[in-house]
Amino acid sequence: MPNQFTASIPNSIVGYMNCGFCQDELPDEMSPEEYSWVQAGVTEDGKIQVWCIRHNATIALVDDLRALKRGFDQNQAAVLN
Ligand SMILES: [Zn+2]
Repeated sequence: MPNQFTASIPNSIVGYMNCGFCQDELPDEMSPEEYSWVQAGVTEDGKIQVWCIRHNATIALVDDLRALKRGFDQNQAAVLN
């Protein structure tokens, strides 16, 4: 359940992390946002992992958030598929 602080933060995403497998099989009538089925969380070693539930595949493994603040570049995040 979101708290008052998190509920007040607007969606300011400017670049999506999509699963390459999902993009390949994206139904014509659906947007990538609608078809996406992802989970994001923190790993034991402090990285942020974005996971495709549909394909049991890592979409991104981010270990340097400062790099993301400078501007998202897929080469800075370990995009694996
Ligand atoms: Zn997928």
